Parts: sequence; structure tokens; C-alpha cells
Amino acid sequence: MLIAIDPGHGGEDPGAIGLGLKEKDLTLKISELLIGKLNGYQVEIIATRSGDETVSLNERARIANRHQAAFFCSLHINAGGGTGFESYVHVSAPDETEALRSVIHEELARYCGAFGFPDRGKKRANFSVLRETRMPAVLLENLFIDNPRDAAHLADPRFLDGLAGALAAAMARALALVPEQQWDPAGEVARLKERGLIVDDHDPAAPVSWGEFAAVMNRLLDRIETGGQKRA
Ligand SMILES: [Zn+2]
Repeated sequence: MLIAIDPGHGGEDPGAIGLGLKEKDLTLKISELLIGKLNGYQVEIIATRSGDETVSLNERARIANRHQAAFFCSLHINAGGGTGFESYVHVSAPDETEALRSVIHEELARYCGAFGFPDRGKKRANFSVLRETRMPAVLLENLFIDNPRDAAHLADPRFLDGLAGALAAAMARALALVPEQQWDPAGEVARLKERGLIVDDHDPAAPVSWGEFAAVMNRLLDRIETGGQKRA
């Protein structure tokens, strides 16, 4: 599965500006954090921009369409004298898109709500990136850049990290993403000891001698030959 992440604005288009913040910087930051979180899942990610670049709205949709993304998520910051979180799907979005949006909306509204920000609702609009993309697409307006309390949170790296974490968790749930198996060498050694195939604690990076290898193999074969019963 491939997901397209769309950090709104960029380059010559700063997006909304307020209280020392630029929308294009915040959307890129959230995108980078989100991609970091999604790296913990078995999913491919394409971003419509990965730096301070000018990318047209049509090009953003084309990138997602060209990669046949399964889901498109556009990141924005609101402006114009409000506060809180809201999400958008296209005016004619099908039920499948609405269902995915609902999972993501509820999770982010809950995260923002924990900081006292209102849920402004699940909205529909004829936005270009929602209209031109050929896969389920959502656009998120994450707080208001021109509201002092919203802006103070947007300027806090911990708030953005938590927001990206909530979004990644919501996407994982909505799209049934499978977590990457984490290889834990010390944990593997501990499991082998729990199962009685080795007796001592071993440094996971230490080399194995033929004597040790043979002992483990013989314990395993004994177990198989006795039908899984541990020998007394
Ligand atoms: Zn925007």
C-alpha cells in the first residue's frame, strides 16, 4: 500500500501567515514527523514535496495519481479568526472516503480536544486536491495560525509530534496498516532461554561455538521427537 502525504503550500506560496509562523513551514514539519511515524508500518509513502518547493495543486494530485496511492492526506493550517480542528472531503466523496475521514477526524479532534481546542466538524468542499485525486482523499485544517493560543501550540515541537503521532495512529487504524516487525536480538535470546533451548544468558552479539549450536539443536530435536514434551 502507498499513501500520499501532501504538505500544503511551499516555495513561493507561504500559505497563511500569522504570529511569526508560516503555514508552509508547519505543514512540512507535520509531514516529516508523520512520515517518521508511518515508517513503523508496512506502507510506502510519497510526499508531494519534501522541501520548501513550489508545487501546483494540479501537480500534487498528479503525483498521487501517478503513484496510484491508496490514500491522499493534505495537511493545512487554518486562518481567518477561529480556533480548533476541522477536516474536509470532496463534496461528492463516496462512503468509503467518508468512513476513512471519520476515523482520522475523531482521532485528531480528540487529540486537539485534550488541549482545549474545539472540533469544528467534518466538512465538505470542492478543493482541487480533493477533486483531482483518484483515491480517497482528506484535507486537514490543524488549528489556526492567526489565533494566539492555537499558534502557541503550533510553535511547540511536542504538540506537533503528538499531532503527527495521532494522525499516524488514525491512518494505521483506518487503513489497517501492519506494524513493521521490530528485530530485537536480546529479546530473541531471552525467548530461547524461556523456552529451555539455552540455559545461560548470552550476549546477543557473541559468536556461537559448535558445541553450543549442537546442544541447542539436540534439545530442539529431543523436543520434536518427544512430541513437544520437555524431558525431565
Ligand atoms: Zn492551506
